[in-house]
Amino acid sequence: MSDPPAQITATLASLGIEVLERDWLSSNSVLFTSADPLETATVVDTGYSRDAPRTVELLRQRLRGRALGRVVNTHLHSDHCGGNAEIIRRFGSSIWVPDVSLEVVRQWDEKQLTYHATDQRCERFAVAGGVRSGSEVRLGGRPWQAWSTPGHDPDALVYFEPRSKVLIAGDALWRDRLAIIFPALAGADGFSGVRETLRAIESLAPRVVIPGHGPAFTDVSAALRSSRERLAAFEREPAKHFSYALRALAMFRMLEYRHQRRAELRAWMRAAPVLEAGRRALALDSENTLRLVDACLDRLQADGQLARSGDILSVGAR
Ligand SMILES: [Zn+2]
Repeated sequence: MSDPPAQITATLASLGIEVLERDWLSSNSVLFTSADPLETATVVDTGYSRDAPRTVELLRQRLRGRALGRVVNTHLHSDHCGGNAEIIRRFGSSIWVPDVSLEVVRQWDEKQLTYHATDQRCERFAVAGGVRSGSEVRLGGRPWQAWSTPGHDPDALVYFEPRSKVLIAGDALWRDRLAIIFPALAGADGFSGVRETLRAIESLAPRVVIPGHGPAFTDVSAALRSSRERLAAFEREPAKHFSYALRALAMFRMLEYRHQRRAELRAWMRAAPVLEAGRRALALDSENTLRLVDACLDRLQADGQLARSGDILSVGAR
């Protein structure tokens, strides 16, 4: 079933929402403006740090002089909160994060915040407060419910508006892929968190989902079905999840750098700290890891995601 884009646009416009969609490196930013002149604008998620100047420019164009009072983050991966610091500087906004992440952000513990393990960048920012799962946040003049969605990130929240049944899903539900299950990579049980999250989203019966990456969609049952199929495949064969994570993290890195020597990317993939527990769990010695790295790079090239010219890899056409 194809989405009716006009209907989605109309629904989102009625809620005061504009979605800023960029390439996969930066999460979508969901901007709320209200008809009420007393309510300042809010943006949910701010993309990756490299895109921060562009994010500020896009927001400025849409705000048309209005104040951006708040930033709300679904979770604290670098591609969702990388624009926070620049937005504070430019708009003086206050930053709200899931309350379970408050202390980690206040202390700026880069290990817990995953930036250290993934070797991704995120400028430190000051936080104003935390949003608790089960509470409501006023966005665009309406109350939105915060729901806990462990799995991809144990601390992540999604936001749901029960009258329109619109869901801001962050990385808890994408249209045709399942985001990396980070706790599983770290050797914990992340799979049951994903199952719980998919069940919770299904029970909300959203009509429109604004994912963290990619366009908004309405065929929610197909997305849930495909996520469950992926989850089952990963549970049957955790090595599949490891390979998927290896490819996804390599592509994220390539989207950041655009071009890289193959040997450099290969060395990074072989030793990335975020994959260390997975390598141990799968008993991959350095030779086996390298074989897997090469298979992943070959597949990314065969899929057209990477292009190779001599020693240099570049982001491909798709
Ligand atoms: Zn994420």
